[in-house]
Amino acid sequence: MEITYQYLAGLIDGEGCLMISKATRIAEAKRGIKFCPVMSVANNYLPLMEKIMLQFGGKIRNQGKPIQKVYNIYFSSNEIRELLPKLLPYLIVKKSQAEILLSYLEKMQQNGYRNISDELFAFYEECYEKLKQIKRIRFDYDKTPKEIGKLICPICKKEFIVFSNHPHKKFCSTSCKLKDCWTRSNARIRQDKLDLVNRN
Ligand SMILES: [Zn+2]
Repeated sequence: MEITYQYLAGLIDGEGCLMISKATRIAEAKRGIKFCPVMSVANNYLPLMEKIMLQFGGKIRNQGKPIQKVYNIYFSSNEIRELLPKLLPYLIVKKSQAEILLSYLEKMQQNGYRNISDELFAFYEECYEKLKQIKRIRFDYDKTPKEIGKLICPICKKEFIVFSNHPHKKFCSTSCKLKDCWTRSNARIRQDKLDLVNRN
């Protein structure tokens, strides 16, 4: 079975990475800074990764503990330049990242690695920042709790908002939660004493 561009695009959308890495304090680079395009895809099923590598290129590196090994395929600048335009129509999540990466690669090919003008350097820097920003926005979006409803606290009878990060919250506050805990354990102690009295 051949792996289609659609399939590879899906993998990159899910477990892939499209970005520009930035290395600082590089002696031979102008301004000491070196940008490098990154396109990678990750999975823990080695036969799939080998298949992708055979068909599309890239190099496999593994990461993580032996028990939970994750394989990453990293593509070279030339491979990205060749592959990414073909994947672009099928990317959904990482489409805007792909477009930024491609515009960066295009500029890089036109101008070469040497004699980078201030203008060009600013453009590279901007691409790098944009990609970093997109990643951050998506990450924060997932972490920002959303309102999912309102409940009445059974202890203090006040209304409180339930957020998506604590969907099973039953009390308005920790102190009400503790009060409930105490009430229950006191009730249990009372009941135990009562049982003891009744038994005797
Ligand atoms: Zn309360």
